[in-house]
Amino acid sequence: MVNSLNQINTNITRACKLAGRKAVDVKLVAVSKTHGAEEIHPFLHVGHRVFGENRVQEAYTKWPALKAEFPDIELHLIGPLQSNKAAEAVALFDVIETLDRESLAIALAKEIQKQGRAPKLFIQVNTGEEPQKAGIAPRDVATFLKLCTETYGLKIDGLMCIPPVDQLPSPHFALLAKMAGELNLPQLSMGMSADYEQAIMLGATHVRVGSALFGERG
Ligand SMILES: *Cc1c(COP(=O)(O)O)cnc(C)c1O
Repeated sequence: MVNSLNQINTNITRACKLAGRKAVDVKLVAVSKTHGAEEIHPFLHVGHRVFGENRVQEAYTKWPALKAEFPDIELHLIGPLQSNKAAEAVALFDVIETLDRESLAIALAKEIQKQGRAPKLFIQVNTGEEPQKAGIAPRDVATFLKLCTETYGLKIDGLMCIPPVDQLPSPHFALLAKMAGELNLPQLSMGMSADYEQAIMLGATHVRVGSALFGERG
């Protein structure tokens, strides 16, 4: 496990070098969904601190205890968030990558105000415009960003995408990077186990890697 972490960090460093970027500008989000605390511990013990989960409920079964033990953990929510779980999400996560609709912006704004805790927020973009997939359509992102910031007072840090499984990811990464540039958003979450190096070449600041770190999910 820890070998896979070393290998992926090496690959990230190499991709950064090829891209003329600094390795410190790319964060490896270790996607620990379906894996228990006992599998996460080895990563924490070698100093890894950035993790991703896709379900609020599952995250609550492991992360409050792990965060108590390692207070500098940075936990990302990378899966869909129901508005009625906004309070729990704001309380536990440090980054919410899946802001994808106005009702959620309203719920998050309310909880951030109430709890005085402000996770970083990324807008999820449905770059492939897939009907079954969450995310704002590319043509609507500028308007949605304005709504989030001006109407609801949210600070938005970046964009996130999950390209269609049956397409080459690079065009989607390039589109997301172009949009983030135009919108002046500094963070870009894109790239998973199969394509994180390509994502880094195209500007990813966060790569979300699960199976290549933890092994295939059962
Ligand atoms: C599970 C998941 C990942 C990690 O996928 P791997 O292919 O296992 O690296 C990345 N992003 C999201 C949104 C996920 O749900």
